[in-house]
Amino acid sequence: MNPAMPDCLATPLLFELSRPGCRAVRLPKCDVPEKPLGELLPAGAIAADPPLLTELSEPEVVRHFVNLSTRNMSVDANFYPLGSCTMKYNPKRNERLASLPGLLDLHPYQPEASLQGMLAVLHRCQHMLAEIAGLAAVSLQPAAGAHGELTSLLVAAAYFRDLGQGRSVVLIPDSAHGTNPASAAMAGFRAATVKSTADGLVDLSDLAAKLDDQTGVFMITNPNTLGRFEPRIAEIARRVHEVGGLVYLDGANMNAILGISRPGDFGIDLMHFNPHKTFSGPHGGGGPGAGPIAVRERLAPYLPVPMVVKDPGGYRLDYARPKSIGRVRSFLGNVGVLVRMYCYIRTHGPAGLRRIAEDAVLNANYLLARLKHVLPAADGDRCMHEFVLSAADLKAQRGVSALDLAKRLLDFGYHAPTIYFPLIVREALMIEPTETESKATLDAFADTLARIAQEDAAWLRDAPHSTPISRPDEVAAARKPVLRWREGS
Ligand SMILES: *Cc1c(COP(=O)(O)O)cnc(C)c1O
Repeated sequence: MNPAMPDCLATPLLFELSRPGCRAVRLPKCDVPEKPLGELLPAGAIAADPPLLTELSEPEVVRHFVNLSTRNMSVDANFYPLGSCTMKYNPKRNERLASLPGLLDLHPYQPEASLQGMLAVLHRCQHMLAEIAGLAAVSLQPAAGAHGELTSLLVAAAYFRDLGQGRSVVLIPDSAHGTNPASAAMAGFRAATVKSTADGLVDLSDLAAKLDDQTGVFMITNPNTLGRFEPRIAEIARRVHEVGGLVYLDGANMNAILGISRPGDFGIDLMHFNPHKTFSGPHGGGGPGAGPIAVRERLAPYLPVPMVVKDPGGYRLDYARPKSIGRVRSFLGNVGVLVRMYCYIRTHGPAGLRRIAEDAVLNANYLLARLKHVLPAADGDRCMHEFVLSAADLKAQRGVSALDLAKRLLDFGYHAPTIYFPLIVREALMIEPTETESKATLDAFADTLARIAQEDAAWLRDAPHSTPISRPDEVAAARKPVLRWREGS
């Protein structure tokens, strides 16, 4: 050691970081033989010149990425009333807890004995979701809501196969999310549409006409995508059960009924949750989702493997389930999202979950009350956690579309609502404020939309006016994305 160098500078950084209190840093062992690289590689594989890398200083790189990050629309920076997607505030506490080294640094191939903490968390998640659903058993495996739909329909198909019944049809209301018919088709069913009434609920006579011994599953979103709770759900379930079918709940809208109503109690046989919506996991560009499913007792044997079970000796992964549909995802599922869900549910507790739903419904109704004078509401004066406005009249009278309004909102720092969904409402704007927004935020948004609706039509058709890109060709952007940062590079 250089005797002139003070001790604190001479201590290698990795040693410093590996002292008690810091996380251990272990460098992997390297087995590369000690020969010059030139002798290890064939001559043709060696470049003549070093690569032409752009030389940038650290501050330049930091500024580049920090400036890029400020162009991002996110729940942390903007009001984000994206209907159906439930863009909730992502509590920072969740992030801190999910980043604890004992959770973050697990390896998927670690032996079960050293995974007991994570398995305990997952086991409790299974129990908590079963309780919230009012159903018997839960699988945490599916990786997103749509994957939960597919997994559930595979479970239903296995159940019918076991009964010796070749039920081939899945019935889906015309207000449903597009993933529902897609999942039905992927699971080998034929998707058939059930009409909605003028007020957006299930048309019972159309349903009755389509129910028969081929009916496998009726998929319903409740509250539905118009923000209405289907009050005849128990009767609907009874009719589906009468012909031997199962009732599936698309649980994307659970935020409206958490702790107030349990799907199992209103006749649902199987369902999925969207932890990244209902239980505050970051999503959109912010992270992956998950799609746990809950089922009645008689469907439990068909759930995917592995299940997390508790024995006297501890927690373990159970693969010995002969009727299981098998694996639907590698390892334990998207545990990062599930851990955040666990933190969120435990933080709020039973009474807190109910309060979340009550506040979500209150906020949506307040905003609806303010906005129904600006654009007609697709469905009445009251809603659950979201509502749908229609710009159809505005378009007919002044040529201003839902898209124009949504684009113009960007100029005011708002994320646009969901537009053109549900498909049964023309020029739809679907607005979901979520429970954490203040009255001041809701008022400011309502004032802005009211102001925009009065603006000059040509100005609106050119909006947004303040974003780096105004109106990209969305079809071309999806079909022929340009992924290079500059032409020719
Ligand atoms: C979000 C959503 C889905 C799909 O969930 P993902 O987690 O995005 O796969 C399905 N149905 C409805 C009503 C939704 O809002």
